[in-house]
Amino acid sequence: MSPAMDEKIDPIYQSVIARNPGEKEFHQAVHEVLETLGPVLVKHPEFAHYKLIERICEPERQIIFRVPWVDTHGKVQINRGFRVEFNSALGPYKGGLRFHPSVYLGIVKFLGFEQIFKNALTGLPIGGGKGGSDFDPKGKTDGDIMRFCQSFMMELYRHIGEHTDVPAGDIGVGGREIGFMFGTYKRITNRWEAGVLTGKGLNWGGSLVRTEATGYGAAFFVDEMLKVRKDSFDGKTCVVSGSGNVAIYTIEKIHQLGGKVVACSDSGGYIYDKNGIDLELVQQIKEIERRRISAYAEERKSAKYVDGGNIWEIPCQVAMPSATQNEINGKDAAMLVKNGCIAIGEGANMPTTPEGVKVFQDAGIAYGPGKAANAGGVATSALEMQQNAIRDSWDFEYTENRLRIIMQNIHRDCYETAEEYGSPGNYVVGANIAGFIKVSRAMLAMGVV
Ligand code: GLU
Repeated sequence: MSPAMDEKIDPIYQSVIARNPGEKEFHQAVHEVLETLGPVLVKHPEFAHYKLIERICEPERQIIFRVPWVDTHGKVQINRGFRVEFNSALGPYKGGLRFHPSVYLGIVKFLGFEQIFKNALTGLPIGGGKGGSDFDPKGKTDGDIMRFCQSFMMELYRHIGEHTDVPAGDIGVGGREIGFMFGTYKRITNRWEAGVLTGKGLNWGGSLVRTEATGYGAAFFVDEMLKVRKDSFDGKTCVVSGSGNVAIYTIEKIHQLGGKVVACSDSGGYIYDKNGIDLELVQQIKEIERRRISAYAEERKSAKYVDGGNIWEIPCQVAMPSATQNEINGKDAAMLVKNGCIAIGEGANMPTTPEGVKVFQDAGIAYGPGKAANAGGVATSALEMQQNAIRDSWDFEYTENRLRIIMQNIHRDCYETAEEYGSPGNYVVGANIAGFIKVSRAMLAMGVV
């Protein structure tokens, strides 16, 4: 059961709604955190006195800018760029850039807000921020992507830096886009400043395991939740939504841990392969050919493609939503539980609606919220920053091992904090409170700034 909003906290939430009209995803993300913080104020009245919740809900800085560029056909295009620098108590602002037509201030703020707590949970020195654009990369030529990224960085460069704000990828932004942006930053500033962006290529400052990190980390987190229940991935049927970077490496790690992923998806529909998803084929289609996931079923007899289908109707024991926000609603959650699902690990940010979260919690299944379960991506970005700072690069095994230890620590932190605050087994409570306390303590020490 999710706790009711504390009476001291409710007015803070109401003021967030009033001050940020129309930003429904941001309201949802704030609500999810604030409804769990009541017991914290009882133990820490100083947090209320110094208005820590109010301060954390207000971004330190919000930047919105015009991104003009000329497309392949010589036509002028105008997009909107965003960077919300939310909180720098624990380190430079850190968080990805999302390029997707749905992007507006409310989405960037929800992501930036979640990022504060997620980054705190990693235990590494990174603050929270997020950015992006309503630019739609789908179907664009490499030239279009490059010109857009160059124009985007032409403004963003003045706001970022290795000690200030360190962007990375998110939906629609991968190695190719980071490369174009790094090149532009380098040209404008005349600085080869590796630490300004993460997710870089391996031969120019990138870190091994960064590409795999979000997916691997999410699978490690679920593995830990299963261990608590004296269980494992071994022999489990799993469903992973999405087919981008997070989904692909979630599938790879689940297979390594002995589970079988039978379905994945894109915004058009899902593929079901009773023999288990052939990851090499997915990678060929999505990463190399940049085609739709429906192509999988054309290549594999054992698979079917369901156009417009709902992937959550497939019976599974472990579900890992790894596509986008609000992709599991209350009905989907009920269907998953009814079909025997025992664990959820969120690779995407806020993929479950509040109704869905309630269904999972009421059913008592292991539910790992995104800000804990998908923290492996940004944690490995922080490891990339460490390597950049000492001008070194670590091998795969060492880096993956560090990621695994970080995910185990996050899991333990969330688990123990939930218990300490009277909600055993509730990882939402554990993640929110553990993250909030880390940030609040730092802010308290630094005074009212
Ligand atoms: N976009 C990722 C996230 O949601 C990674 C951010 C980063 O590496 O800075 O956490």
